[in-house]
Amino acid sequence: MAARILDGSKIASEIRAEVAAEAKALAASGVRAGLAVVLVGHDPASEIYVRGKVKSSAEVGLYSEQHTLAESATTGELLALVAELNRRDDIDGILVQLPLPSHVDTKKVLLAVDPSKDVDGFHPMNVGYLSTQRPGLVPCTPGGVMEILRRSQIPVSGAEAVIVGRSDIVGKPVAMLLLNQTATVTVCHSKTRQLPEVCRRADILVAAIGRAGLVTGDYVKPGATVIDVGINRVTDAKEFERLFAGNQKRRETFASKGSVLVGDVHPEVAEIAGAITPVPGGVGPLTIAMLMANTVKAAQLRRGIRQSELIRA
Ligand code: NDP
Repeated sequence: MAARILDGSKIASEIRAEVAAEAKALAASGVRAGLAVVLVGHDPASEIYVRGKVKSSAEVGLYSEQHTLAESATTGELLALVAELNRRDDIDGILVQLPLPSHVDTKKVLLAVDPSKDVDGFHPMNVGYLSTQRPGLVPCTPGGVMEILRRSQIPVSGAEAVIVGRSDIVGKPVAMLLLNQTATVTVCHSKTRQLPEVCRRADILVAAIGRAGLVTGDYVKPGATVIDVGINRVTDAKEFERLFAGNQKRRETFASKGSVLVGDVHPEVAEIAGAITPVPGGVGPLTIAMLMANTVKAAQLRRGIRQSELIRA
């Protein structure tokens, strides 16, 4: 039987509507929540992401501003900008778009962001808050994974959860969030032995690997919930055949655009899983929605306003 499709676009639009209501309530009490996005250079993908973040802020009624620095910007220049944004009371969230050019000390820049304005949730202080279950800012994509589970009524407490990927931005925080909600958590990575067998234990399987369709049917217990965080662009015809052999719609896209997007989960898994997030339209849309939610949350936390019920993570 085909899996239930967990519609991330629909969930993201619900969250955006809730953020808009919160932003309106804040505005009524004289607070205009504000986000500053810092971009260095002209990486096309980063420019698209930043444009999306600025546009989305306007849609939900948040103030936002974009700071674009030249590709040659130094660590010192970035630190000076971050310090200024830290000082400004009208800025609640600071997001430094990654990756930064290789000559910039990324860790130093991220460490300089005031933890109370760290809407990406990457600052070690927020990582510590997450692991000790204190109120803080949770990374957007992992927070989005939890919102998909919660809003789709997927039980987490007591569930066997297996996460493939242990990155600081996705795998580890997802593992921590699931553990905080009392799942039994296993984290896998490139050195994990018998990966399919470990994954087959999962009631909730989260793939955050960056390998097109690595998670095939033999990784999945029938009826499991599968959350596919991966976003991979397939351009190779043979790889396309491995993934989408019988899919006429994707074939047309591949023929006209020369590429298609696929997650880390092979499409065949949709016949085995109980519920699954599609790519595109699954976890992806949640990331910006959660950034908006984090900006409102930061504005509330910084001002000691009761934290909204928007995000439970
Ligand atoms: P990283 O490259 O930082 O981490 C990948 C992880 O996968 C690593 O822990 C790595 O193991 C593990 N891994 C790699 N190959 C294998 C393998 N063959 N078997 C088992 N584990 C493996 O990636 P990210 O966490 O940043 O991103 C993961 C995916 O999620 C990417 O496709 C990315 O595009 C996507 N993404 C999507 C977002 C969204 O908005 N939906 C946001 C962020 C990311 P090891 O640590 O041992 O090397």
